[in-house]
Formats: sequence, C-alpha cells, structure tokens
Amino acid sequence: MKITHHLDDSTLMSCAAGAQPEALAAVVSSHLAVCPRCRQELKKHAVIGEALFEALKPEPVTRGAPVVAMRSGEAALDELDVDEMPAALKAALEGRFDDVPWRRAGPGIWHYPLPLSAKAKGDLRLLKAAPGTRLPEHGHGGTELTLVLDGAYADDFGTFRRGDIADLGDDVEHRPIADLQQGCICLAASDEKPRFTGLFARLLQPLAGL
Ligand SMILES: [Zn+2]
Repeated sequence: MKITHHLDDSTLMSCAAGAQPEALAAVVSSHLAVCPRCRQELKKHAVIGEALFEALKPEPVTRGAPVVAMRSGEAALDELDVDEMPAALKAALEGRFDDVPWRRAGPGIWHYPLPLSAKAKGDLRLLKAAPGTRLPEHGHGGTELTLVLDGAYADDFGTFRRGDIADLGDDVEHRPIADLQQGCICLAASDEKPRFTGLFARLLQPLAGL
C-alpha cells in the first residue's frame, strides 16, 4: 500500500494527547494501523505531548466503541482491537465490503452509520460511492477525516487511494468524484453532528429528514 496523504500535525498532536473525539479517533487509529510514517510521527508528538498535555484527562472509551482506546501516546500505537468493533466496521477494515449492511443514501451513494458511545459527539460512518459518482460540493462543520478503504476518489487536493487519509479543517470546500473504474469506499468521521449544510446532511436529507 503506497500512502501519499497523511494526518496533519494538529491531528497527531491531539491523538498523542488522547484528546480526540471518539468518531475521529476511530478513523485516525484505522489509518495508523496501515501507516508506519504516521505511527513514527505520532511517537514524536507523544513525547512533546506528554509535557504539554499532562493535565488533560483522556476521554474514556466504552467497550463496544469502534476505537482503540487512546489513553496515552504509547497506547495509541496498539494494534486495532477488531474484536471490540461493531461487525460492520470490522468487516470493512478487513476488506469484506459485501458484509456491510449498506443503506442507499442517494443515486450511486450508500452509507452505514456506526454506533458511538452514548455520550460521544460527532458522526462516524462508512460511505460507498459507485464509479464516477460526484458528491455534492460541500464545506465542513468542524474537522472531517476520511480514510479510503477501497478504490479511490479525486478532488482539488489530489487523488486519494486505499490507505490515504483526508484531514480537512472547517474552512475547506471540495467536490470529490469517485474513481471511474473502482468507485470508492471510505470511513468518514466528523467531530460535529451533521449540520444542514454538511455533506452527510445533504446526502441523507431525503432519507433522514434532517
Ligand atoms: Zn499516514
């Protein structure tokens, strides 16, 4: 796997501090599991973070949450514990995409929302786009992380293939298009609930009544 798009420093920093919302942490840890470079970077940040974030209490992660508990910089390097994941996420991370109970969200777009702990904020879901599907242009409410699990997509920032992560802040607008041959399957998280103007809201509005 050749990975060309990585996590931002600020994301690695909050990861090292154990201060990431659960939904984002799920995507971060999934990228770390396949990316030696970001694991290496995380180690550096963990050393800095130890000094800076001593006072911060990491968010507790309940059993069944789709996340490796990131209780410290070192713990964040643990392997993904697939046994504690929802079945759909486990299936997707293992490449068994047909085992995900996809729900149709629009023409050429399917999704599967993943459960978070009761008190967790944010949104975590699997997304699947048919070959050549163009998503609506959208901005982001808060941080949005997208990890490509299969196929590819392209936007103004380049082409994102398997293992690549898009680490987008809230001032970014883009209009991704799924690979013409393979389509694209992603794990996507945002640290806010979908807003009316957000990507998910637009995609899912007709179904979810948002
Ligand atoms: Zn990386």
